[in-house]
Amino acid sequence: MSKKMSEEEILAAFEDALRNEQIFACYQPQYNHSTGRMTGAEALMRWNHPEFGPQYPADFIPILEENGLIRRADLHVFETVCRFQRACMDSQIPVVPVSFNISRHDIFEGDYVSELEQIRAKYDIPVKYLRAEITESSAIGGMELVSSALKRLHDYGYIVEMDDFGSGYSSLNILKDLDVDIIKLDMNFLRGDVGGRGGAIVNAMVQMAKWLKTPTIAEGVETVEQADYMKSIGCNYIQGYLYSQPVAGEELVEVLKRTNLEPTVPAMKLLQPMDAEKFWNPDSLETLIFSNYVGAASIFSYENGKVEILRVNNKYVREMGMNLTEYELIHSDPWTRHTPESREIYEKTIRKAIESGDEETCETWRTFCSKCCGEDTVCIRSHIRVIGKAGNQYIVYAMARNVTAEKKNYAELFDSERRFRFASEQANVYAWEYEFGTKRMRPCFRCMRDLHLPPLLENYPDSAIEMGIFPPDYADMYRDWIKQLENGAEHLEGIIPLTVGRVPFHVRYTTEFDETGRPLKAYGSATLVVDDVKTPSDADKPSAA
Ligand code: C2E
Ligand code: CA
Ligand code: CA
Repeated sequence: MSKKMSEEEILAAFEDALRNEQIFACYQPQYNHSTGRMTGAEALMRWNHPEFGPQYPADFIPILEENGLIRRADLHVFETVCRFQRACMDSQIPVVPVSFNISRHDIFEGDYVSELEQIRAKYDIPVKYLRAEITESSAIGGMELVSSALKRLHDYGYIVEMDDFGSGYSSLNILKDLDVDIIKLDMNFLRGDVGGRGGAIVNAMVQMAKWLKTPTIAEGVETVEQADYMKSIGCNYIQGYLYSQPVAGEELVEVLKRTNLEPTVPAMKLLQPMDAEKFWNPDSLETLIFSNYVGAASIFSYENGKVEILRVNNKYVREMGMNLTEYELIHSDPWTRHTPESREIYEKTIRKAIESGDEETCETWRTFCSKCCGEDTVCIRSHIRVIGKAGNQYIVYAMARNVTAEKKNYAELFDSERRFRFASEQANVYAWEYEFGTKRMRPCFRCMRDLHLPPLLENYPDSAIEMGIFPPDYADMYRDWIKQLENGAEHLEGIIPLTVGRVPFHVRYTTEFDETGRPLKAYGSATLVVDDVKTPSDADKPSAA
């Protein structure tokens, strides 16, 4: 039926084609995959030759570009779009924003934006119903031209979309230099990675760029899997064969009449304290936030108590300590891992972060269930910050640290501390516990208070000698005591002058052995030799501290 036109045929037929509406626009609707509602459409140029039949844009557009004709064709499409919007407005048909394509050749000469504006004025279309699409490659070799056109478009209030983002090598750089409002990600350029671990750094950077700067529309979406994946990483807006082929204007009118419309893409606003610029710098840590260069991090959306994990990095997966994959983490309801109390704490912290716009911290216990290791409960310290907002949905960035070991240590400490406190308060003694295997000493509450000891002394007894608790001339004798205990002495005692004040104390040790008879721990205590009135709590605190 149709025959591909040659360059000569295209050039010869062009004027006629414009005049007789053989060159025209069709429209491809865009949808919000979360709500199923239509959000906009893109105008695509079509050429239907009466003799040669429909022509592919990929075939004739480059020829129009090379011959300086694309500008007129694009203005023709733009005028068609304006006429379409005018007709909808006049007949009370719901209006959605329609995107039009700008070729880089359009802006090479003259003031293209003024010409667009003249047409828009002629049909009196509010600028919010028209969106400009420029391609990433249009910036190549003409950055100044593109950025000045972009500025002009912004001055008039146009929303500008970056078409085919990710197709070029220097996408991130271009995005940094061009202040676009919406990014269009073409699934054809992301193919291969979709649905997988999404581990490629470039892909992660694309996601990050999207989060931190602008909303995103995924185009060329053909399958539910692709749409679901895009939704899962926070990109709800979909254009592609899955929802609709490009359709003629009359058909779009029918679609508009029966579709539940959604006003416009709510702009994902970047909240203040986050320095988005850092994310554009390819050398900064922020840029590689989802690779391994920063701590465990996740990004999730929060809306009225509903949390959806969007991305986690490798470290996050590891930090959780369980053999879960990113996929498993993302595709499960995070709240199921929380107890009701811990959920309350976490949500409260999110709300605090929303209010303060600052980083907020909390600790929550969670239960992770993995295929190979069964169930485990871990304590996660989270630093939470809100980085974006769209409607009622907040985008939250959370750094996580598994502090389970630390917590357990404290719990143990608390236990032994309680025992010691009880004993010492009763008997007016200073008490401590020494572990042979680790050379760790845990002092009682009274020791901590009066001698300013930390809850845990590593490398005992040398650390205590260094602190001046044991005077230097008693150091060797005391080291020898510990050796004797290590070698199986059950009991030791003697008078030792303690602290720089050389206050005489009666020091006693009792050893605890394991089942095999090996020394496990030694329990030490010190009581003031009674005929001395001084206590270490007043004049005689260690001077080394
Ligand atoms: P584009 O701007 O990236 O447009 C999207 C292209 O993807 C369209 O091809 C569309 O029909 C196609 N497409 C839509 N959904 C799917 C899908 O699910 N899978 C796949 N594989 N493709 C899908 P089309 O209409 O052939 O246009 C091709 C290119 O021609 C456009 O790419 C754009 O670069 C250019 N073009 C189209 N209309 C205009 C125009 O009015 N002016 C200018 N300067 N260029 C235009
Ligand atoms: Ca386009
Ligand atoms: Ca595109």
